[in-house]
Amino acid sequence: MQAVIMAGGKGTRLTSVTKEQIPKPMVRIGKKPILEYQINTLKENKITDIWIITGPLHEIIEDYFGDGSKWGVRIHYFIEQQAMGTGGALFFLKQELKNDFFLLFGDIFFDIDLKRMIEFHRRRQASITLFAHPNSHPADSDLVILDEEQRVNHILRKNEPRIEYYKNMVNGGIYCFHVCVLDSILKAGYLDLEKELIFPRIQTHQDVFGYISPEYVKDIGTPKRLQTAEEEWESGLVKGKNLGRKQKCIFVDRDGTLNRYVGLLADPEALELEEQVPDAVKLAHKKGYLVIVITNQPVIARNLCSLKELEKIHNRLEVLLGEQGAYVDAIKFCPHHPDKGYPEERTEYKIFCHCRKPEIGLIEEAAAEFHIDLSNSYMIGDTTTDIRTGKNAGLKTVLVQTGVAGKDGKYSDKPDRIARNLLEAVKMIE
Ligand SMILES: [Zn+2]
Repeated sequence: MQAVIMAGGKGTRLTSVTKEQIPKPMVRIGKKPILEYQINTLKENKITDIWIITGPLHEIIEDYFGDGSKWGVRIHYFIEQQAMGTGGALFFLKQELKNDFFLLFGDIFFDIDLKRMIEFHRRRQASITLFAHPNSHPADSDLVILDEEQRVNHILRKNEPRIEYYKNMVNGGIYCFHVCVLDSILKAGYLDLEKELIFPRIQTHQDVFGYISPEYVKDIGTPKRLQTAEEEWESGLVKGKNLGRKQKCIFVDRDGTLNRYVGLLADPEALELEEQVPDAVKLAHKKGYLVIVITNQPVIARNLCSLKELEKIHNRLEVLLGEQGAYVDAIKFCPHHPDKGYPEERTEYKIFCHCRKPEIGLIEEAAAEFHIDLSNSYMIGDTTTDIRTGKNAGLKTVLVQTGVAGKDGKYSDKPDRIARNLLEAVKMIE
């Protein structure tokens, strides 16, 4: 398989680091340029035929990487004589690229299992798959709006008004393309990849998909972000989050744990975060855990709320977290309820299922999806149902004293630890 790396950017926001003497992808983390990490990741995923698009200062990249043999790959260069935007150079590579290829931007620092992404791309028969993930600053990021099959319906630019609550899902700048997409580039010249190639394709073909992953991907476009990336790399977080490795996870309950307990919640505006929750979630991530919400939402079966409205409630949760720089990796809910016989109920959801806590269907689903080692993971919640769920799944458990504070009296299971709130609970975890 092939890859194209866009490495021609000048990095105007990073001049304090580059001094305009080196191209942005040659900025170092540890002792190596960002570009070298990208090439190593490609090689680990057996992608060894690499095109690097360069611009001014191209000789610095060529001198460092040469033909790529030192890294076990074959590198070809295309030098842009004038700025061609984020996609203009692709016109010249039409004859060189075959089938599916990766398209990367040279200022993205990442460590991801590309094999998983290409499998997704092929399974969906996508023409373009973009890497989508939640980040710590959704309000000033372009948001990717996906449908249930993860097809991209829309990309909301960061400068467009946010008229409702949106899911925290951002474009990571890593793409898998089928070469047929390049047929629509008819002439040489400047090309904005998103505006002129990806957006029209979303409209006309409906075959652009978002591959969702919690793996580490960061744009190092500012000195602050570069510094954070460096710290996260040194702590082992970057490598640890690669889905080729076993993940550890903190599963958290929703009502009474993340957000204030108000009984059955059916109105987005009624959702407010519990105390110190954004800090707790950020700390969990810093400790290398995924954070996945596991919640029973019988409001669906009881017809107090539609799936669309529940989505809005969850989007508000994500927006409130995002405003404080925090995000969850996934929200999984059970819409069912076993007791039949209410006049307004939706009978199709009135079933015994394997996903309603204390059953562990949702946890098993998350474990398969994110390669989670359950024996190294936790369940945190405010009810004895959460504690029973954690025990059923082989997780360590922490009961929080927010919400109903374990006083629901349903199960007699004892938690491993008891904490005042979510932040205290996460602090107890190694
Ligand atoms: Zn269920």
